[in-house]
Amino acid sequence: MLLFLGFLSTRAAADLEQQIAQARELAASSSWQESQLVIDQLLPRLGEASPDQRAKVWILQARNLALAGEEAAGLAILESLIPIELPRLDVERRLRIFNLASNIALSMEDFERSFYLLGQAMALHTAEVNAVQRADTFSLASFFHSQVGEIERALDYAERAVELARQVDDPREICAALQRLGVAQGAAGDEASQLVALNEALEVCHGADFPLFLASVQLGLGGLFREAGDLDQAAEYIEQGLAGMEAIDYRVGILTANFELARLRYEQGKLEEAQIMLEALVEPYSELGHWADLVDIHRKLADIAAENGALAKSISHYDARLEARERHLDEQRSRRLTYLQAEFDAQRKQQEIALLEERNQVMLLEAEAQARQRWLYVILTLALASIGCLLLLMLIRARADRYRFQHLSETDGLTGLCNHTRFFELVQQGMAEARQQGQPAHLAFADIDHFKQFNDRYGHDVGDKVLRQVGERIRKHFSGVDAVLGRVGGEEFGVFLVGQPLTEAVELLEAFRQQPGVVRFEDKMLQITFSVGVASLCADERPSVLRRRADQALYQAKVSSRNCLVIAGDDER
Ligand code: GH3
Ligand code: MG
Ligand code: MG
Repeated sequence: MLLFLGFLSTRAAADLEQQIAQARELAASSSWQESQLVIDQLLPRLGEASPDQRAKVWILQARNLALAGEEAAGLAILESLIPIELPRLDVERRLRIFNLASNIALSMEDFERSFYLLGQAMALHTAEVNAVQRADTFSLASFFHSQVGEIERALDYAERAVELARQVDDPREICAALQRLGVAQGAAGDEASQLVALNEALEVCHGADFPLFLASVQLGLGGLFREAGDLDQAAEYIEQGLAGMEAIDYRVGILTANFELARLRYEQGKLEEAQIMLEALVEPYSELGHWADLVDIHRKLADIAAENGALAKSISHYDARLEARERHLDEQRSRRLTYLQAEFDAQRKQQEIALLEERNQVMLLEAEAQARQRWLYVILTLALASIGCLLLLMLIRARADRYRFQHLSETDGLTGLCNHTRFFELVQQGMAEARQQGQPAHLAFADIDHFKQFNDRYGHDVGDKVLRQVGERIRKHFSGVDAVLGRVGGEEFGVFLVGQPLTEAVELLEAFRQQPGVVRFEDKMLQITFSVGVASLCADERPSVLRRRADQALYQAKVSSRNCLVIAGDDER
């Protein structure tokens, strides 16, 4: 059942598509009534149609209304499609809508509207758009410019339309473009070229089965031959054209054909017939506002009336002719003004768009430059920060190094006590402070006894070990006391004590000296002894003197017995 329904709906869709195609073909090749019959059948089924199918049907409906002389209604349909359906349609359908809308507005002589719609159509021209549709826009643009007196442009557009139509080899489009080229050449007064274009158009339009344009071409040729005085040839074309217009029942076309025929009859001297035909045209042409043609109609009617002796009638036609002429000139002026205004507006709009685009471009460039600047700023900041960090690290490293080097330069590598230089620097400072504060101070040198022999016996490494242990012992012994400790020579140590009386200092030094100086070596306990010389700081004593006195006391200890402490007397100063 579902399958059956599905089959039915595909069939219905195929039917719909077929009917639309049929209506479109009839519209081009037959009278509008015939395509309208098909459209009338289609209208109730539009609910099931796709947006594109709906648009096709409404386009045909609008076209038929225009051909039937109801241009305003046709244009209204297209203009109502524009805001609603347009977004759902492909570019070709949109272009068709704008082309047709502009064409109808032009036939209504609403030049401003026509120009606007033409601009919309032109804006849709891209490389992807069907060349036939583009050729159609150019044909229309040519016709438009012929109407507003821009003949150069009309010729240019027509030539472009013909070229494009020839490229895609579309006979109907070639036919239409050649007809428009003929119109433009006629307006330019180039009858020879017009004859060539219309003759070719005649052939192409015949083959293309395109009666509306075929009839237009025939009427154009009829007019050309009539003006050239070949009235028989003119009669043939005009009658063919009239028959063609009647076959498709194009109201304005039939009127044009009748006007051509009336002018022919006039030229043929068939004045009675001409008069009847021309009089029949006065009202519809007044309605349509074909003032230029009315000038001619009234002039001929005035001449015929004068010929017939109907002077009053002749005068009234002359008056009507003057009025028509006035209106024609007015209309020409306003057409031109409207066109120039519209074109000026379009140009201004284009300039505004170009300006906006330029401004946009500038803004984009500015944004880009700003972004680049921001990046540069970030990179620069990062680089500076990195350099800063590096410098800071280097500074920290340099400080640490300096501290390390200073420490190294002030410290004895073996014992970790002050080295010779640093020791005597600190002694000098300490002496000055002690003197300032009125405190007692004492300088002592402790020298290991017979250390050379020790070295000789056990080796330098053991000697070094002993020196290290002695350093450690000194540090420990004098910790908690205000003392400067140093290794002032190979196996000679310096102690500078501040703040205690000599007796206490000597006690402290003696306690150190008498400590069992034992060093462990290969399971043996090695004995070391010290000789100590000590000197107390006297009132205004120079450091070198104090040092010499302590040295001499040490010497005394050495020469007396070693392993003892000698206090320097004042007399040794
Ligand atoms: P005295 O009792 O007269 O002081 O005799 P001594 O041998 O200790 O004195 P002398 O001045 O004759 O010799 C000092 C020795 O100290 C010489 C050297 O071998 C040793 N010495 C000096 N510096 C170092 C050192 O850094 N390491 C070691 N292992 N020995 C050292
Ligand atoms: Mg010694
Ligand atoms: Mg020594």
